[in-house]
Amino acid sequence: MREILFLIFGAFLGKVIDVIYGRLFEEQRFLSNLKIVFEESKKDDIKKKITIRELNKLINDQSFDESAAKSGDPLPWSCCPKCGNYDLKRESSSSSEEDSNTHYSISCLKCNWSEWS
Ligand SMILES: [Zn+2]
Repeated sequence: MREILFLIFGAFLGKVIDVIYGRLFEEQRFLSNLKIVFEESKKDDIKKKITIRELNKLINDQSFDESAAKSGDPLPWSCCPKCGNYDLKRESSSSSEEDSNTHYSISCLKCNWSEWS
């Protein structure tokens, strides 16, 4: 019995460590990619090649959670698209009895970026 509990605890601890390191690694990669883009964008020839739309697409690609989007999450952000923070607050509410639609909001606890649907 004791061994089983240790096994379950070990598996749980392993998952927690995976999530923490995965996020740190993702955030670091995101920041280093952005740094490369901004360093490159200082060069005049690159400035003409990278458009604002492409920069925004890069930020969206990095902060968007494709699997959450596929599973129907109305606001599938994995991190804040403005500052890269992973501490996001999610809320849902129904505005009134006549309006049966549920409204969802997401906001960043670091820079106050928010989005709703
Ligand atoms: Zn933010």
